[in-house]
Amino acid sequence: MASQPIFRFAPSPNGWLHVGHAYSALFTDRAARSLGGVMLLRIEDIDVARCKPEYDAAIMEDLRWLGLAWPEPVLRQAERFPLYQAAADELRDRDLLYPCFCSRGEVAVLATGADPDGAPLYPGTCRRLAAKAIHQKLAHREPVQWRLRTDAALVAAGGDLAIDEIPVAGHDLIPSRQSRRAADPGRWGDVVLVRKDIPTSYHLSVVVDDAAQGVTHVSRGMDLFPATDIHVLLQRLLGLPSPVYAHHDLIIDTAARKLGKSAGAPALRLLREAGWTPARLREQLGFRGS
Ligand code: GLU
Repeated sequence: MASQPIFRFAPSPNGWLHVGHAYSALFTDRAARSLGGVMLLRIEDIDVARCKPEYDAAIMEDLRWLGLAWPEPVLRQAERFPLYQAAADELRDRDLLYPCFCSRGEVAVLATGADPDGAPLYPGTCRRLAAKAIHQKLAHREPVQWRLRTDAALVAAGGDLAIDEIPVAGHDLIPSRQSRRAADPGRWGDVVLVRKDIPTSYHLSVVVDDAAQGVTHVSRGMDLFPATDIHVLLQRLLGLPSPVYAHHDLIIDTAARKLGKSAGAPALRLLREAGWTPARLREQLGFRGS
């Protein structure tokens, strides 16, 4: 018997959920059910400075209000730093990570272009640091981040990196049109996999957890479309399975306009306080009866 498709909704508790999150959660839940699967909830709270317990609690409350449910226990990334560290150690042992001491300001000045997110593209300056200098900086506890040696990583990955994708039409997946396209992680340059302030990064923790949770399908907004190239590379390097991906349109602006807001999408709790019912919001977002 084929195993049940597992999707996940993975918000970060660094603010109140807004209608864009509601759309993504409803989309993912509907996608999971359309394939006879289930949607897990994962709290992506690695950014311990910005994430707050009150936002975490509010996420559950808002999603339940919307009518969504998920299996327990909910995975919280802040409880899993040792696992991300182990994945980083594995890459470090294979010389696929290198230490970088550059500040954001320095990277902005040194940048040779932009990465797919529009952030400055790192030119690999710290790759050229002598072993002795690295040793001294580490001994002096200079803040360090660890970057992927992307060219070596692509060689280690062994080529033919591809992304399996299900296209999206409106609010639905079209599984009959699943296809495969070549991934191009090189355009990200040497991405940071271990940040200065925390022992992981979004990219590293997301691939470790998608595998740990047996996620077979990742459905998320188009804003994360380019990140998928890095994710399939990391999955290959770490010997993890690659899920199938589906990226939905971002509705923040349209939703905000429809809901009568000029700047930004409104928080779900504000709508609730203003008397909105879950049914009315679902209908507004195009999920009536789904
Ligand atoms: N935590 C990410 C966010 O809130 C989503 C991660 C993902 O879906 O891969 O944007």
